[in-house]
Amino acid sequence: MKRLRMVSLAVTLLFLFVSRVAVSHDNHTSSATYLGNAAILVQDESTKLLFDPFFHKDFSIYQLVPEDIRQAIFQGASPYNNISFVFISHAHDDHFSAIDLLNYLKRHAKVQLVAPKQAIDQLMALSEFSDNDKSLMPRLHAVPLGYGDMAWSKTINNTHLSAVRIPHAGWPSRAEVENLVFRVTLNDGSTVMHMGDADPDDEHYLPYKLHWQKQITDTAFPPYWFFFSAEGRDILDDIINAKQHIGVHVPVEVPKRLIGSNKLFFSKPGQVAEVHKH
Ligand SMILES: [Zn+2]
Ligand SMILES: [Zn+2]
Repeated sequence: MKRLRMVSLAVTLLFLFVSRVAVSHDNHTSSATYLGNAAILVQDESTKLLFDPFFHKDFSIYQLVPEDIRQAIFQGASPYNNISFVFISHAHDDHFSAIDLLNYLKRHAKVQLVAPKQAIDQLMALSEFSDNDKSLMPRLHAVPLGYGDMAWSKTINNTHLSAVRIPHAGWPSRAEVENLVFRVTLNDGSTVMHMGDADPDDEHYLPYKLHWQKQITDTAFPPYWFFFSAEGRDILDDIINAKQHIGVHVPVEVPKRLIGSNKLFFSKPGQVAEVHKH
């Protein structure tokens, strides 16, 4: 009997410990791991997100996701196991491969895809997209945003996501590209922003200032060219409400200007950064 009491005490203590960890919002354990170009793994204890993980074009300038990391993602090997979401910023070949994404979603039945309608249309137009693959559709979340539309938001499995359509760099050329700036809040409360190939002109951002003021972003991942213009820096520092910025989409041969800028950036696959900053 005494032994049983000891066991039940131990179980109770364990339960208290576990539930304490689960409800604590001060325990920010989230991190970001760089994979290549604009591809990032963001994770806390319960949720893992992949941004722009599958692509094949490097234009002889940008960093591909190394083959060993690519294979690990497809196989769901740690830390790429139990991925909850894949986000696609836009359907360009240095961010997106429709066939890779289809194969990945077929293999990993719990992953939710959040992507511009353009990317999802490409996925579903593949000749490899069979009638059987229609069963994937509840997991495909197309973000239907036109330029100037209000922010889109949704909660899926306790993860709060929102997106704003910001034109692709080089505006007004390539205006048809549905480039999304995602903001995602993980269960531990930390919030990240992925910007795709966003154009650094503050006119695109000012209409969403209120949307961004409502939620602090712990770490934003802008393309590195934001650091090179006063307007780009203003967008990061004054409009999007992010505490930290880590540049991505950095050429393999890192620009000297970036090295000399004192800005944080990812350029080597496998680099890890803490997401939450007090
Ligand atoms: Zn692009
Ligand atoms: Zn790009």
